[in-house]
Amino acid sequence: MKIEEIVHLIHQWTPPSLSESYDNVGLLTGDPKALCQGILITLDTTEAVVDEAIAGGYNLIISHHPIIFGGIKKLTGGNYIENTIIKAIKNDIAIFAVHTNLDNILSGVNHKIASLLQLKNTKILSPKKDIIYKLSTFVPIKGTDMVLKALFDAGAGHIGNYSEASFVTKGTGSFKGNDQSNPTIGKVNQLEKVEEHKIEVVLPKYAKNKVINALFEAHPYEEVAYDLILLSNDNQTIGSGMIGQLENPLPLEDFLALIKKTFNCGSIKYTPISKNIKTVAVCGGSGSFLRKEAMHQQADAYISSDFKYHEFFDSENLISFIDIGHYETEQYTKEIIFDYIKKNAVSLPTKISAVNTNPVLYF
Ligand SMILES: [Zn+2]
Repeated sequence: MKIEEIVHLIHQWTPPSLSESYDNVGLLTGDPKALCQGILITLDTTEAVVDEAIAGGYNLIISHHPIIFGGIKKLTGGNYIENTIIKAIKNDIAIFAVHTNLDNILSGVNHKIASLLQLKNTKILSPKKDIIYKLSTFVPIKGTDMVLKALFDAGAGHIGNYSEASFVTKGTGSFKGNDQSNPTIGKVNQLEKVEEHKIEVVLPKYAKNKVINALFEAHPYEEVAYDLILLSNDNQTIGSGMIGQLENPLPLEDFLALIKKTFNCGSIKYTPISKNIKTVAVCGGSGSFLRKEAMHQQADAYISSDFKYHEFFDSENLISFIDIGHYETEQYTKEIIFDYIKKNAVSLPTKISAVNTNPVLYF
């Protein structure tokens, strides 16, 4: 398999358009046309990880955090970012980042944290808006099934746990083609009235081009009439963080002990709360931006990392903010990527890096 084929495979699962605007996901170094010899998966790309790739014959590193993030203006060495990139390029090692696009999908890092804590009734804590389109199109009745199938195959018609969702109404379409037209039904310069179906489906923003291309391919008319409207509905399957419930409420100390064991934490920073913990919100990585949303949804605890000192004050005995460390919240991202690659018939040597890239130690 070529490196670009693996990139494509992963982007079908975590489309880059789902990443946040500040992010830099995708293939960061390397030749997309090169044959992949093996895949090494890591949270961070460091020189030690590149060394491991060289020694093991892996020429593709898949990393959660993008090594190229801010603007790089030179590559002369001198810091770990430049040294790592130079070493990777010199040794024909491609680096591919799957970052906030993996955070934002339902099967991503927050789902993993929630499932490790055995949370029930989980849902996205902060669903994304403005990423769903409504497509309406008008098809002669005989063409309806064909067009619907093409739209579904291209990724339209998904709502929550349902696929192939559509609404079809019957009506009369009219048109009159000019001298240059070549109408499928009727004649040029003659008004035609045809029994048609109006088909309505929703589609995710990232699938827009694919769905519109499929519509044009499958639609029997020379000119395809359609409306594409951006909806302000929440998308329940895409967004940041997750919230759910523990089966049995736990006193805070017991809950902290469970977290410490589950995530192998060197230390935990937290704010107190006098009631038991039942509803739990989580967000892998730097998630303090969701602390108010976790409170708004009446979580008893919010597990994330990188809270600032003053942000802890917001908890006010209404919620326990639990900062377990950035690496600790995201360490299982490696397993998620590994499992996806193994499940999707990539028979290449694939390994989770043995390097612990956490730059933080606990004394
Ligand atoms: Zn992170």
